[in-house]
Amino acid sequence: MKHFTIAVMPGDGIGKEVTPPALELVQEAANQCGLSLSFTHIPAGAEYYAQTGDAFPESHFQEAKAADAIFLSAMGHPDIRYPDGTEIGPQHDLRKRLQLYAGVRPCKTLPGLPLPLKDPRSLALDFVIVRESIEGLFAFPRGHEKDDEEYAHNLMRISRTVCDKLFNFSFRLSQQRSKNGKGKNLVTHIDKANVLSSQHRARQWFYSVAEQYPDVQAQHQYVDFAALDLLRRPWVFDVMPTENQYGDILSDIAAGLMGGMGMAPSGEIGDSHAVFQPCHGSAPDIVGQGKANPTAMILSGKMMLEYLADKHQCYEALDAATKLESAVEQAYATHSIVPFELGGSAGLKQISGLIGNKLSGVIEET
Ligand code: ATP
Repeated sequence: MKHFTIAVMPGDGIGKEVTPPALELVQEAANQCGLSLSFTHIPAGAEYYAQTGDAFPESHFQEAKAADAIFLSAMGHPDIRYPDGTEIGPQHDLRKRLQLYAGVRPCKTLPGLPLPLKDPRSLALDFVIVRESIEGLFAFPRGHEKDDEEYAHNLMRISRTVCDKLFNFSFRLSQQRSKNGKGKNLVTHIDKANVLSSQHRARQWFYSVAEQYPDVQAQHQYVDFAALDLLRRPWVFDVMPTENQYGDILSDIAAGLMGGMGMAPSGEIGDSHAVFQPCHGSAPDIVGQGKANPTAMILSGKMMLEYLADKHQCYEALDAATKLESAVEQAYATHSIVPFELGGSAGLKQISGLIGNKLSGVIEET
């Protein structure tokens, strides 16, 4: 039987709430497909920092690094900060230290949800933002040597090496989606090449990588115009590689299109490691109220299974991913689930319970 080790990092706030049901469902899908998973829990984050003075000890990092994949929830708390005032986020350390350059943020709408756009095409969205996750405007988040009483700086830095990897990843993703009958065989570079010289270079690098993929259509769009199109006609997009901060902002718009932060999964993928986590943070405003939507965490688990399947040519993991995704889709399609975030009353227990029933084939009374 194929076996994988998973480092589980529940983190802070609602991260600790959405992790247990997501783990249970990933495990159940794996069991059904003859796949063996073992989970190691690794504490880290703001609450751990408050208790121990260290947000992410080196031994914990090494333990996470040794796993086949890392399943992380949410970390950080506005009231627990480093002495320089910045928030605690071991997930950022993981991205940089493990070189997880591709922040994969799919926007796939689920049937049955009351979504913000009314055009019928927005009810069947399926595109992916690929956020560069280790450079860009977030390369130096803690200030610059030129900072003084008058000026504060953050340096935007991109490298050709990382851009090339990001673009190759995006073109391959588009090819793979096309092979699976998804997407439009289209990669759109989202940039601000008319204002920032670094972005102009990124666009040139993008088109030189595009030459290696003559079967995929390559195009570009300014980030501000892309924000407008995400609200006006998001169905035109397929794969969208973009700079770190642009990706951060656009993926929150994409989460809105899907029904909120609780719906949006992600994967941070590098050449040898990967972290899977929901796009949302620790959401201290709803902790302990049962309102957290576990769907984003569950779908991040599905992405983790797909990654393991692809990396290790493991059909069992692909089957498990397909089963889990289909259980989520069926639960939303048949139960008119309206999460708290969308003004409804479905919370953690109800949503995970309904998805669990679909996964186990329980026949529910209507
Ligand atoms: P960060 O600053 O790290 O992004 P945050 O918790 O301040 O984290 P978001 O995660 O972006 O912010 O979430 C914004 C709001 O969306 C939260 O305050 C919460 O009300 C809502 N939210 C986020 N995740 C969920 C979820 N899984 N289920 C329900 N509501 C959520």
